[in-house]
Amino acid sequence: MILDHFQVIDFNKKLRSWYLKNHRPLLWRQTTDPYKIWLSEIILQQTRVAQGTPYYEKFLLQFPTVFDLANADERDVLRQWQGLGYYSRARNMHFTAKLVVNDFGGDFPETAEKLAKLKGLGNYTAAAIASFAFGEQVAAIDGNVYRVMARLFGVKTDILSNEGKKQFAAIAKELVPSDNPATYNQAMIEFGALQCVPVSPDCLICPFNDICYAFEFKMQNQLPVKAKKGKVQQRYFNYFVIRQHGKLAMRERLAKDIWLGLYDFYLIESTTLTAVFDDLVYDDFLADLLPKGIIEEMPKLYTHILSHQKLNVRFWRLEISEEGSIDLPVGMAFYTEREVEDLPKPILVDTFLKEERYL
Ligand code: SF4
Repeated sequence: MILDHFQVIDFNKKLRSWYLKNHRPLLWRQTTDPYKIWLSEIILQQTRVAQGTPYYEKFLLQFPTVFDLANADERDVLRQWQGLGYYSRARNMHFTAKLVVNDFGGDFPETAEKLAKLKGLGNYTAAAIASFAFGEQVAAIDGNVYRVMARLFGVKTDILSNEGKKQFAAIAKELVPSDNPATYNQAMIEFGALQCVPVSPDCLICPFNDICYAFEFKMQNQLPVKAKKGKVQQRYFNYFVIRQHGKLAMRERLAKDIWLGLYDFYLIESTTLTAVFDDLVYDDFLADLLPKGIIEEMPKLYTHILSHQKLNVRFWRLEISEEGSIDLPVGMAFYTEREVEDLPKPILVDTFLKEERYL
């Protein structure tokens, strides 16, 4: 036991009173609809509140219920998600929405244990939905909560290790009250987001500075302990923007890789940054295409950072002047400007199209 029974009661009282005074009136806090809570949690996994809120509103306008999402075309779902990144999360949401509708008649399971079995729902999201929507007495531990617990109780185990996860889960279980667990969870998350912030928390105004281990031992910068992330993989993309009769050749990404289901251009990936086009013409499709038009290298190099990859991207413009139709590779077709606008695209591709005035 980190705290005894009375200390837990006192802790919860102080936390609740801090929350009532300080919390932000976020849209998803005003609902117990598990679909809306689920959506907000997935969006907030990858973006901050200010950037995520417009996506949340836009997504709900398009797909107001789990039934609307289940019945949607994947392309429309990805289009709404465009710009948020981590597109597998949108695809998983779509998959799970169909399962909830087809197998459960549109009703979400009501416990964290059952929710965690759904595709795309980790332990945190499952606990958040179970607690916020159904009032289950279960602790939702996100990055904010790990930080608060590590500092308050001086836990030095790596939060990403299995041992760390077990240790933090045990502490959180002691703290979560049976009375209104939803408010407790919201309060812990908000406390980490607003008060016990990652860098330079203002400990002098903290209601817990009398019991906080990190404050006492000046260890705010050392806690929580988090193992360093793995090495970032460098990738080199050479995109060919092929246009004929004013239409652009776009390719649906079908391989198991980043951006599955999104649309980009004809791509040759190289192992280093390609300085000269001649290094790429071993490609049969391009070799056939070149005599039919004019190729031009775009001067700007783009870089795009993903969670474990850095993309170094060069574009070539290929204007086809020959009238006859062209055999495009699988998954690729010509689209009008309007159609290209509606396709779900990686933000890098969307940025390029706008900067180069294709859209
Ligand atoms: S005293 Fe500082 S480090 Fe400790 S919980 Fe409060 S804000 Fe966080």
